[in-house]
Amino acid sequence: MSISAASAKATSPHALPSYLNPDHPGPWGIYLQQVDRVTPYLGSLSRWVETLKRPKRALIVDVPIELDNGTMAHFEGYRVQHNTSRGPGKGGVRFHQDVTLSEVMALSAWMSVKNAAVNLPFGGAKGGIRVDPKTLSRGELERLTRRYTSEIGIIIGPTKDIPAPDVNTNEQIMAWMMDTYSMNEGATASGVVTGKPIALGGSLGRREATGRGVYTVGQEAAQHIGLDIGQARIAVQGFGNVGGIAAKLFAQAGATLVAVQDHGGTVYEAAGLDVHALLRHVSEHGSVQGFENAEVLSDEAFWGVACDILIPAALEQQITAANAHQIQARMVIEGANGPTTPEADDILHERGILVVPDVIANAGGVTVSYFEWVQDFSSFFWSEDEINARLVRIMREAFAAIWQVADEHQVSLRTATFIVACTRILQARELRGLYP
Ligand code: GLU
Repeated sequence: MSISAASAKATSPHALPSYLNPDHPGPWGIYLQQVDRVTPYLGSLSRWVETLKRPKRALIVDVPIELDNGTMAHFEGYRVQHNTSRGPGKGGVRFHQDVTLSEVMALSAWMSVKNAAVNLPFGGAKGGIRVDPKTLSRGELERLTRRYTSEIGIIIGPTKDIPAPDVNTNEQIMAWMMDTYSMNEGATASGVVTGKPIALGGSLGRREATGRGVYTVGQEAAQHIGLDIGQARIAVQGFGNVGGIAAKLFAQAGATLVAVQDHGGTVYEAAGLDVHALLRHVSEHGSVQGFENAEVLSDEAFWGVACDILIPAALEQQITAANAHQIQARMVIEGANGPTTPEADDILHERGILVVPDVIANAGGVTVSYFEWVQDFSSFFWSEDEINARLVRIMREAFAAIWQVADEHQVSLRTATFIVACTRILQARELRGLYP
């Protein structure tokens, strides 16, 4: 680009941060709209609402690593602590080629809301590196993870901010993070991350927890709208740790999985896909592409599939004004963070389609992360049955309280969840007062 073109771009409205562009607000802009929607319901606490509209702390780090071919590569990493009024920051770390600061800010804010919605003693935080981890060898991935952990080591810690897995990060990456932080501290600090391998103080049930939570709130919501899970048809976008587990649990309860979309394509079978065979196929081939005994649909056709429950469990901004009119489902359960834009939310609401929002629907993962953190602190580990029973109880109680608020104010479940969560966060803020 020539210098004059670059300066013209800098002065054009397109140079504004994306969240200030009303046509393409991006995840942080969407979050700000969600806060605006809830403000009228916060009573006198609304005088603190500005604290929700900016992150407490945001760190941008350079992550240089040596590649296997001997050259050096630089990646940009982030850790954002949105709010710590109710406790240490808590939230995952994402490795993805599209990660931006604005996205991580929004994801950290949604963690604040999610953690407060299920009443965990945490604030909200999130991290990420803009990288396509599929292009890295195992050694490169380890060096990337360790350098990133060292760089954000100045703000994380078991009582400060506790990372966990998110998109494209897993137990092994948490093990490297825990080891790096511990090496720098000179003492093993298992409580610095959650979602670790069981052998390093991880919790039973953590890997399945997000999917189990999606299934649990799905059961509760289905009861409210008179939908029999045993007869329900399910369509899932994203067939990883969240979508895959949720689909398996719904299928175990008798539901029929009719369509799955992931980064490799869309497969459809009106009579029902074999969930276990599909899970095996994805673990062997990396995506649903090439799965036999299924019809292949276009990416757009996925949204119009005849089903009762649609579970977006991949990335943000998938259900938009462009496809919300096609959706046939009776309810949408958001396994992903931020999959529905505010315009799409309104369209679904007008069409009578119930949306169970991310900030409650996918809170199962962080709930069992909380159990892991508690177990690490006490070095006393619980049985899987105990963990699942506590998880289900927390999710059911939180959902019931949110349903009641939605009913009382005649608002969507998203606004109701924000009312419950923002009230808790701002009550803590008010009690703590403004320092100094
Ligand atoms: N990344 C997950 C989420 O978005 C889990 C976070 C955690 O366990 O801290 O909720």
